[in-house]
Amino acid sequence: MLDLEDYIRIIPDFPKQGIVFKDITPLLSSPEATAQCLKELVQLVKAKKIDKVVGVESRGFFFGTLLAQALGVGFVPVRKPGKLPFTTIKQPYELEYGWDALEIHEDAIAKGDKVLVHDDVLATGGTAKAVCQLVEKLGGEIVQCNFIMQLDFLDGKDKLRKYPVASILNY
Ligand code: 5GP
Repeated sequence: MLDLEDYIRIIPDFPKQGIVFKDITPLLSSPEATAQCLKELVQLVKAKKIDKVVGVESRGFFFGTLLAQALGVGFVPVRKPGKLPFTTIKQPYELEYGWDALEIHEDAIAKGDKVLVHDDVLATGGTAKAVCQLVEKLGGEIVQCNFIMQLDFLDGKDKLRKYPVASILNY
């Protein structure tokens, strides 16, 4: 059994001064660590019924697609504005300074779909909350938001208190 924390590289002051970035590229470059991470993410879901996995641009795509395959369901990408080719719906969300937005294809989720939202990191929770709002606008039901890492000191769980939240590593 590997300690997955050994595969997370800590980068001080990236992308800005004062931010201690958790880099998952060492994890991705190890097939053993990737396999274990996937297994642990699947275990977080337990026996819950899932119809779709929704992953967030861009680091949520890596394990989001693997998770969908492992669970035998489809993967849905949520992307920054203007990236998805078909008709989309948009959800703005607040950043530390200013606003950003995320989009999803309008036909990506069917009414009543049970949805697992995945991203690599839960920080302030703004990104994951916007993803949940997009899924709910399309009539989907959030079964769980799961992450490789949760940065506990940023209280992202507060923004997601409506939803079950689970992660493998806590910082
Ligand atoms: P939040 O919206 O929760 O503040 O930020 C989460 C988003 O920012 C995620 O999409 C995540 O990929 C990215 N993010 C924030 N901090 C980190 C970090 O330390 N490492 C990585 N890999 N991504 C981060």
